[in-house]
Amino acid sequence: MQCPFLKQTKVRYCELSPIRKMLADTDGFEQYERCSTAQYRECPLLQNADPYPHDLGNEDHCPRLRSAMVQYCDTAGVRKLVPYHDCLLSRCQTDAHLYCPVYRQRVHPKERVGVEPPNANGEVHMPAHISYWPNHMWMHEAEYGVCHIGVDAFVACVLGSIDEVKLISPRTLTQPTAVLSVHGHEFRFVFPERIEITGSNVHLLTHPEEIVKDPYGGGWLYEGRVRQAESRTPVERGAIDDMENRDWMRHEVDRLDRFVRDTVHASKGSSVELATDGGLPVSGLVRHLGRDEGLELIREFFTLSPQEAK
Ligand code: SF4
Repeated sequence: MQCPFLKQTKVRYCELSPIRKMLADTDGFEQYERCSTAQYRECPLLQNADPYPHDLGNEDHCPRLRSAMVQYCDTAGVRKLVPYHDCLLSRCQTDAHLYCPVYRQRVHPKERVGVEPPNANGEVHMPAHISYWPNHMWMHEAEYGVCHIGVDAFVACVLGSIDEVKLISPRTLTQPTAVLSVHGHEFRFVFPERIEITGSNVHLLTHPEEIVKDPYGGGWLYEGRVRQAESRTPVERGAIDDMENRDWMRHEVDRLDRFVRDTVHASKGSSVELATDGGLPVSGLVRHLGRDEGLELIREFFTLSPQEAK
């Protein structure tokens, strides 16, 4: 589905002019301008054209006046007209518009306040329209294999806040990789599948907190194209089955709870305050961990299995 703010219109422009200025067909001034009336014969550009067009005939508008279809963003501060064919596969033409900062600002003008910690049933926010991978990364596939990836709300909750984001993958066919730094720990997230990376969310370099505030929206990490989107479903490519992802997440929350009890309490003693009344891990858990425990957490929950690492 294309962005509701994407509009299209017909424009006209002078083929001879050194500067291509496009005039929308909807401005209603055609009858007063030289190019669209018989007065075009007096135009110095046409008279000085080399070669001079001797075949002017009895046209009621200049034969060098051209028209084209263009698209533009109706909500952007500056209206940039883009030839229609160049827009194909752009973010505006697909569900990928959900990640456009201009769209998000218009549709969700208020700042997000952050993800909720797991509730008493161990449930974590998981929008239904995206796929989840076992190392707590997500992918949203739009039309034509256009995709966005990020980390899920489980990660946002465990990290609680993020000091620095490094988006280290180049624009090429590769496994998108991001390094999130929290309190001296470096969490390296490698997406299990190779995608054709077309861009990264550079906004996160100055606003890393966006990942925690809005992990499924403004906190996306990379955008790109999935090569196998048409031939294999996300589940066939390694994602958690839609029917099972809620059970999987509950299991992960239980596992985290056990990790806190077994690994952290065992090393620090039962006086350490790492659990809520209901026994679920607190938001920002990682800030309470020592170096070895942090590494263990990464290995247990966020590292690719040997089969996934390509
Ligand atoms: S730039 Fe953003 S808001 Fe504007 S049309 Fe494209 S996706 Fe929509």
